[in-house]
Amino acid sequence: MASHTCSKCRKIIHPGDLFYRCTIKVFAEFDGVINIKNNKIDVEKEFEKARSYPEDLIEEEVFKEFDFTLCPRCKEIYCANPLHLPLG
Ligand SMILES: [Zn+2]
Repeated sequence: MASHTCSKCRKIIHPGDLFYRCTIKVFAEFDGVINIKNNKIDVEKEFEKARSYPEDLIEEEVFKEFDFTLCPRCKEIYCANPLHLPLG
């Protein structure tokens, strides 16, 4: 069985050692409300603009997934403050 490496601190995790898988999914949410700030939107022009963006860039705008391997210490640090909020 191959060993793993902690994605955060690069520590080698040997076969049989405890480690964690951290999967983060970030996706666009829709609350059912469409805000139209400017009534003069040219829909055809907007669609044309969107078509010129690379497909993977548009997908990334809607859904992004991260997958990390964490050693026990890095898992504790991550879980204590996953959004890096200011402590105080
Ligand atoms: Zn680590």
